[in-house]
Amino acid sequence: KRIRPRQCLPVIPQGIGRSRFFLAIDELSSQLGNENVEVNDKPLDDGWYMEPPNTHDGMAITDEEELVASAVVYPGSTDDVQKIVQWANKYLIPLHPISMGRNFGYGGAAPRVRGAVVIDLGKRMNKILDINPDDSTCLVEPGVSYYGLYEEVQRRGYKHLWIDVPDLGGGSVLGNALDHGVGYTPYGDHWAMHSGLEVVTPTGEVVRTGMGALPGNNTWQVFPYGFGPFIDGIFSQSNYGIVTKMGFGLMPNPGGHESFLYTFEKEEDLEQLVEIVRPLRIAMILENAANIRHALQVLALSGKPRSAFYEGEGAFPREKMNEHLKDHPYGACTWLYFGTCYGPKEARQLKLDIIHREFMKVPGARRIDPAVLPPSDYFWSRDKIASGEPDLEELAWVNWWPNGGHVAFSPVAPTRGVDALRLWQMAKKHWIASGLDFFLDFVVGLRELHLIVECVYDRDDPKQRSTALEVMRSLIDEGAEEGYGEYRTHLLLSDQVAGTYSWNDNALMKFNEKLKDCLDPNGILAPGRSGIWPARYRGRGWEI
Ligand code: FAD
Repeated sequence: KRIRPRQCLPVIPQGIGRSRFFLAIDELSSQLGNENVEVNDKPLDDGWYMEPPNTHDGMAITDEEELVASAVVYPGSTDDVQKIVQWANKYLIPLHPISMGRNFGYGGAAPRVRGAVVIDLGKRMNKILDINPDDSTCLVEPGVSYYGLYEEVQRRGYKHLWIDVPDLGGGSVLGNALDHGVGYTPYGDHWAMHSGLEVVTPTGEVVRTGMGALPGNNTWQVFPYGFGPFIDGIFSQSNYGIVTKMGFGLMPNPGGHESFLYTFEKEEDLEQLVEIVRPLRIAMILENAANIRHALQVLALSGKPRSAFYEGEGAFPREKMNEHLKDHPYGACTWLYFGTCYGPKEARQLKLDIIHREFMKVPGARRIDPAVLPPSDYFWSRDKIASGEPDLEELAWVNWWPNGGHVAFSPVAPTRGVDALRLWQMAKKHWIASGLDFFLDFVVGLRELHLIVECVYDRDDPKQRSTALEVMRSLIDEGAEEGYGEYRTHLLLSDQVAGTYSWNDNALMKFNEKLKDCLDPNGILAPGRSGIWPARYRGRGWEI
């Protein structure tokens, strides 16, 4: 836990005088109740994953005060959200909506515009509105976490239903999907599995998408498209609306599952392995997101700090990694493949046999027998996650440094060995040159490969923080030169990433800006999110 004392008065948004701002706050308090409007005049408490701050980024990569909220408000209903939006339009106060604020590695709960008012939807709007056991669907509010949904499915005794979870179970089911988050059952593409949104627009109207627009419908969560243009996409990774309800398909219990682990010795094995993975994944013989991790993360997943393995400066030496892994049940290796097969035993065995035959074509490949792994081994955490049970074990690697923070470079590539190798070489070059440590994970969603490079740093070391940011910036530019673009990024890197999507004289951003100015004429909602700035801010020095 780390708490920052503050010398300054509460930050207020640019463009409004201090007294008018507090007048506006009083007005909002009278509408929502004093207890639901909090001015941010307390020390900045970074908390930890289960108690994340809603005023700033708990893993700040710059000074916390740069990206800090002026106040936090807690709506209890869609009606309250409308009131907040109308209020913000009246006073031209920027808003920043969060569901639960656990977007660690991407900016946490911090607003992109200093002094914006954070709308913490999760605190009071946390109801599971429906779980339909026949259609295998659910409808949730922003404050429903993976733990919450999982426990409710269990409580109702719906043994035939699974949910899909990301590495950590404390996030918002709705918030994670809005940021195109991923999990590790066959339903891992969260946005693809959604059906139906309720959205408050930046001018305060409420819209239901898809079948939700049909009064009295009974198909909102079973058919996402409805009639006419499918507008849901414009509300993900955007600043065009505040989502207050979201529906999802739930996975039927497949009747059994079995996780497996293979290790691969050499760095170059990545190329052959990815070539093997592609056809297996597209054919769904590899049924969940392919997960190829670099072995250094195994040491960090022990939960021990870096200093327990190596006291020296600079990037963690490869020989040290091998030396420590030798005694680990996985043995010395460079890459680890964590996967899971689903269905009854006979169905699983057919797939496991094909996977074994194909993976063993890589010289030196080894299958690790799960039977030799103790219950505390990380493998069993992956097994839980891949079968839809929320977990927190993944947090262990964040402790690599005291006050550990991380930031991610997350480019998308075709699932080809040559691309995987090129990305690996690009990341490795910066890894060694920067002296920071990287944890790498190649994840194959279906046809595409996401590389997630987590760069870990000590939040109390300004040099490490600034190096991490510089490294990210270099990787984004170098990646774009090779044709790789990020699927998601830290809020401080949004302008740069958006700038790489520049085909046809930035036609996409021009379109996004046109939409922004039309839907949000006063530019109050999350200015700068995904690099989209409203007219009121554009070209006035906010872009970085
Ligand atoms: P929030 O932070 O509440 O929201 C996410 C974003 O959406 C924010 O930018 C917010 O402004 C916007 N938003 C939220 N709610 C609304 C709304 N109602 N209307 C409009 N906009 C909104 N992520 C993964 O996807 N998969 C992983 O496997 C994964 N592993 C992780 C492992 C570790 C160790 C750590 C530290 C993080 C990991 N993450 C992963 C990243 C992150 O923790 C999760 O994605 C988390 O679910 C995001 O936080 P949240 O759900 O609280 O969303």
